[in-house]
Amino acid sequence: MSILKYTLNNGEIIELNLSRTARKNVILRLDKYGELKFNVPPCLSLQRAFRWLSENEGKFLQIWHQSKQLKQARVSIIKQIWFLGKRYRCASQITDKIYWHPQQGIILPDLPVYEQRQLLINWLKTQAQQYLIERLKRWSQIMQLQPQAMAISRAKTFWGVCRSKTGIRLNWRLIGAPDYVIDYVCIHELGHLKHPHHGPAFWALVDKYTEQTKLAKMWLRHNGKELFQLG
Ligand SMILES: [Zn+2]
Repeated sequence: MSILKYTLNNGEIIELNLSRTARKNVILRLDKYGELKFNVPPCLSLQRAFRWLSENEGKFLQIWHQSKQLKQARVSIIKQIWFLGKRYRCASQITDKIYWHPQQGIILPDLPVYEQRQLLINWLKTQAQQYLIERLKRWSQIMQLQPQAMAISRAKTFWGVCRSKTGIRLNWRLIGAPDYVIDYVCIHELGHLKHPHHGPAFWALVDKYTEQTKLAKMWLRHNGKELFQLG
């Protein structure tokens, strides 16, 4: 892959990631970071690639504006994040990896924001994989209920899910919530191994292990949306 620089009439330069693929067509698209990907057939000359861009400038500029918007949209959402029930400020520094400091907050490598965002998501998912699953295992032992499997989910519509065949999956975004909320979701989903529906017997079982049901639900109602701020 190489970078192709295309200069507009007003002097502005647009950078495209050029790659050659075994296809007959030229494809111009955005990747998930908002980068412009320009795929051309193996033997298309650079001159002809430039000509294609100028001939399709309308479409090309439209995609480029989308790219700018995508990158811009991500700039504004990364000032602070929820982690283990607290809001932490995010700051950039010259470092090669993300780290979390109880006072300084989240320190991110000094990279373009859309890259920082992806790093942050991956980091939170890794934390979720360790912390949430460990907590679920603990409650599984305490409650003497063993799901078929325990995993992290990317779902956008639930915090936890329990199925007899596939076990329990917890939304990775719960890593932003305080312990009593995480525990409530674990207990709730484990409870479903015994009682599939939300009947009185189910809630009696949940109440046996946590007194925080109401507070946890309230916390998720108030802050749940912010746990989705990174998408
Ligand atoms: Zn339920």
